[in-house]
Amino acid sequence: MTYDFTKIPFDDIQHFGIRSMLYRDTFTVSWLLGRFCNYRCSYCWPYARSDRKDHRPFNVCKGTIDDIKRQARERGFNSFHFSLSGGEPTFHPEYLDIVRYLNDDVVNCNVHSLHMTSNCSRPMKWFEEYYQASKDMHRVSITASYHREHVNTPKRVEEFADKLEFAQEHGMQVTINMVMVPELFEEHYEDALYFHNRNINVTLKPQSDPTASFVVDGYTDSMMERLHNGMPQKGFTDIKSKVTRPKHNMKMKGGYSNYQVELTDSKGKKWFLDQAERFNAFNFNKFTGWECSSGYRSIIIREPDGTIKRSYSCHDEPLGQIETGFKLFDGPAICISPSCVSSADSKIPKRKVGNSIPLWTV
Ligand code: SF4
Repeated sequence: MTYDFTKIPFDDIQHFGIRSMLYRDTFTVSWLLGRFCNYRCSYCWPYARSDRKDHRPFNVCKGTIDDIKRQARERGFNSFHFSLSGGEPTFHPEYLDIVRYLNDDVVNCNVHSLHMTSNCSRPMKWFEEYYQASKDMHRVSITASYHREHVNTPKRVEEFADKLEFAQEHGMQVTINMVMVPELFEEHYEDALYFHNRNINVTLKPQSDPTASFVVDGYTDSMMERLHNGMPQKGFTDIKSKVTRPKHNMKMKGGYSNYQVELTDSKGKKWFLDQAERFNAFNFNKFTGWECSSGYRSIIIREPDGTIKRSYSCHDEPLGQIETGFKLFDGPAICISPSCVSSADSKIPKRKVGNSIPLWTV
């Protein structure tokens, strides 16, 4: 099914959110486990990476997971989505222990899903262990960040794709994130086609300015067209998977099952986006004054200082800190921030104030 995202009337959108939060009791945790990264990409922002291993011990992480689940359940949410990122999160020395701990709680949840954003530099053997550690999860997904400066020979490109194929064959949803720097656009696009032809999803991301608020200059019309509509996500994992993941009973309404985000315009018409990452390509990221459920149905944790906030972009006071504790909001709250720049933030259900469309239907 193809879909023209450029037809979405972004100026007239009144309500939107990730469908797994619109139609399920999902609480979302986005956890930046540390800034340590084994890569040193020339374009990486200095605050985003470090050579120092700055990870919090497993016991502290375990206590935080327990507290998140307790508070979320008190508010009526018993499905969980944990998204682990970094730095390079797989270098947390107890990464697989954290995954196993989450996996052991699946039986107590309506739905449990797990996501990681990784440069996928770990060897194939690590991916085999990762599958075992997460095999009871209802859904496991990977955003594989592609860094051409390190994945820089045909053999490395092939190995990168092999690991992602292994993940797909083991029931993990995969998409490769490629930042399409304008000067290297065509080279990157050729690599993207290689992965696409191996039936691995690729998300073409525009390069943002250093504050991540708007798309940089330098894209031609043809480039912009490919950024807006290029390579829609397909259900390749469903075709390739050789394993069956546990089933759950929380069905979601409507078609476009591979499309993450549902939007509603002022006439009540529904629109869909395959990936929340596409918001920035349309500069759809200003929600000041909207009612937003982040802080109530979602949190972010950011190391190395262990701050817990409603979302990455929010200017609100933090909800707490990983060592000293935190408290979730008791309901949705008005957005006071100038822009909502991370897809982890923008996909959390929101609506324009005064709107009668329910924030979610669970
Ligand atoms: S900046 Fe924060 S409060 Fe505002 S829309 Fe984004 S997530 Fe919600």
